[in-house]
Order: sequence, then structure tokens, then C-alpha cells
Amino acid sequence: MYKIILFAILFFNFFMASAKDFVGKLSASAASSKLATLEINAKRVTTSFGEFLVIEDTVLSGLIKNKLSDDLFEYIEPNYSYHVDVNDTLPVLDPMFSRQWGLRNTGKNVEQSLLRGKKGMDIDALRAWTITTGKKSVKIAIIDTGVDYTHPDLLSNMWVNEEEKNGLMGVDDDENGYIDDIHGYNFVNNSGDPQDDYGHGTHCAGVIGASHDTIGISGVMAQVSLVAIKFLNQEGVGSLENALKSIQYAIDIGADIMSNSWGGFDESAALAEAIRAAETAGIVFVVAAGNSMSNNDKKPVWPSNYAMSNVISVGAMNGQGGRSYFSNFGEKSVHIFAPGSNILSTYKTGGYYLSSGTSMATPFVAGMVGLLLSHQAKLNPQEVRDRLIDTAEKSFKLDKSVAGGRANAYRLLSDTR
Ligand code: CA
Repeated sequence: MYKIILFAILFFNFFMASAKDFVGKLSASAASSKLATLEINAKRVTTSFGEFLVIEDTVLSGLIKNKLSDDLFEYIEPNYSYHVDVNDTLPVLDPMFSRQWGLRNTGKNVEQSLLRGKKGMDIDALRAWTITTGKKSVKIAIIDTGVDYTHPDLLSNMWVNEEEKNGLMGVDDDENGYIDDIHGYNFVNNSGDPQDDYGHGTHCAGVIGASHDTIGISGVMAQVSLVAIKFLNQEGVGSLENALKSIQYAIDIGADIMSNSWGGFDESAALAEAIRAAETAGIVFVVAAGNSMSNNDKKPVWPSNYAMSNVISVGAMNGQGGRSYFSNFGEKSVHIFAPGSNILSTYKTGGYYLSSGTSMATPFVAGMVGLLLSHQAKLNPQEVRDRLIDTAEKSFKLDKSVAGGRANAYRLLSDTR
């Protein structure tokens, strides 16, 4: 009687499952003669936890009909199928990804450091990428030394001004006041060619948006439009005049974010006006806190210290999860920390380079904000900054900041507070 009930349950399961095969665990008392017959039409799986047969449904129904299966098996179940647990396409891991501790710190991949890295002291990029890897519609202006827009790792994520690309040489086809500005503009020599003759801007660009493919590194964003705006010359120096023009250009072309890895100790009323104009236009202004080991609350750095709601000041974190020794800080004036020591990224003339600075931490945050705007386009700069701060991973080592911790891309996207 017991066995009849058992079979009824088995049959019920058979109809519930659409699997073609079944997996039966052989009972200890399974007769060898029966097995010999059966195994003609079954695959045997030998494990340390038992002997199993993978059998087709027609074979199994024959066994049940002939009342053989109850002596043979402890249990039978469908040959279930399982799938990988991802919400999105799997990210492509570039060949140099393993060296990018800022994206995934394994504790062993922090280079040129006397101390071993600390696992997990990173922006949690892999988890973030299960939510989004970015969008081409998000425009990030890199206001810097230019960008090597021919770099194989950056080419596909460069912003393209289609009217200029398809227009005439020497003509301002889109009538925005700038001739041949296909990937951005060069305010150092007033040309449409923002090629990087220093390397710094290319490094920042790679942190934000090096393509996810089979070459080089991965950017924080796999898809983005990088706008190259050059106002810093081949020695890394630029004028207020050209900074103003750069910000105006970024506003005009509809940038979502400006990434600013530069600064100085001179407060400018005009620069404040430019940033306020960006704020009015709803553009996030991410800026480096500075590398003078000082407290920005007491000794302000500009444009980092401007108080507009769109300004996000970024300090640098090392691979041990502490403040980079060179990084500025400030409980009121530096909003958050991000990876900034020994960062591998793209460099001029198609190269790669390890570099340190709040300059490197800044594009990490610009890229994270880019991910957030890819995920939730309608947030205004104030909301973006609040969320970045509220979702930070707190650490006593990074307490000299508004967030009191490091930026985490996954927590930012998932709004984990
Ligand atoms: Ca133009």
C-alpha cells in the first residue's frame, strides 16, 4: 500500500516536470540482474554520495508499469535544469582587469605599494555591473589635458558630434561656434582637435569609460560618451579663461557630468559663476580635492571648495582602504573618497600607465554618477550627491569627509543606505 502511494506521488511529479530525463538514486538493495537490463538504456553516475541512473521517461514508465522501479530506487526526480544567477549580461573582463584594484580589490592586486591591499576596498564594480554598465546617452565631459581619442580602448566610447564628423573640414557645421569639434574642443590652441599631449586626461578618460572588450582595461562604465575638452597644456597647466570656456562648451553640448581633475588655491568669482551655470543646467560637477595633504575646511582648494549643490569633491583612497597619504580631506568640504593610489589606466599615444592622485579618484566618482544616471536619468545634481553620500561605505579611516567613507557603485545604484 505504501508503495502505491509513493508511485502516485512520482507520477504526479512526472506530469509537473517537462524534463525528458529523470535522475534516480539506486537503492542499496538494487538487484544486479535488474540493473544489467536497465543500464542498456540508462547512463550511470557514480559519486561519493551514491549511485545514480539518468533514465529517459519512456524507460522509466516501462519500469513503473512492470513494478520494478520501487525496488531499484530510493527516489526519482526530474533531471532539472539550472541557470547562472545574473541580472544582466556577464561583464567582459578585460585582460588587465585583474590589475584594477579600484574596481575589484582582491587584496593581492595593489601594485607599487609597500603594503598588501585589503580585499573589498574597492567600488564594488562587478556587483554594480549586474544593474547597469552604463549608456551611450550619458555624456561626461573630461575637462583636462585632452584625450587620446584614437586610443583603441577609448575609441568606441568617445562622444561623436555627428554633424561635424559628416560635415566639411574647416567649417562649423553644427554652428555651435566651434569648427570641427568632432570629439570635443581644444581651448589651448583653439582647434577642434583635443588630442592629449600630456597623458593625464587620457588616464582620467580610461577610468571612466575604457571599453569592456578583449583589450586593456575596463572603465567604470562600459558604455558612455566621453567628451574631450582640453584647457590644460602639455605641462598640465591651464588658465581661468580657458576653464570658463571649457565649462561653457560642456554646458552647450549638453553634458550630464563634468569631471575635473585639477585645481588651485585661487578663488575665482568667474569660476564660481561658471559652476553655478552648470548647476542651473542640471550638470554634476565632480572635482578633485587636491594632493597637498591638507584640510580643505581650513585651506580651501578651488574649484573643489565651491558650495554649489552640483559640486562633488573627491579625496583619494589607497588599496588598504585608508586615505592616500597625499590626499586632501575635510569633514565639511570633501564629500567622499574613491580609489586614487596606483591606478592603472589608459595613457597618451595608446599606452597604459599607473598613476596616483585625487585626479584618479575623481573620474571614478564621475563614472559612478554616470552609472547612476544610466540607471535613473531623472535625478538632479543635489539628489545625486545626497545619494552618493548616503550610500557610502563608512570607515573611520576616511572620517575626514562629509560621507565619512568610500563611494560604492553597487550601493549607489541599488540605493542601499
Ligand atoms: Ca561645431
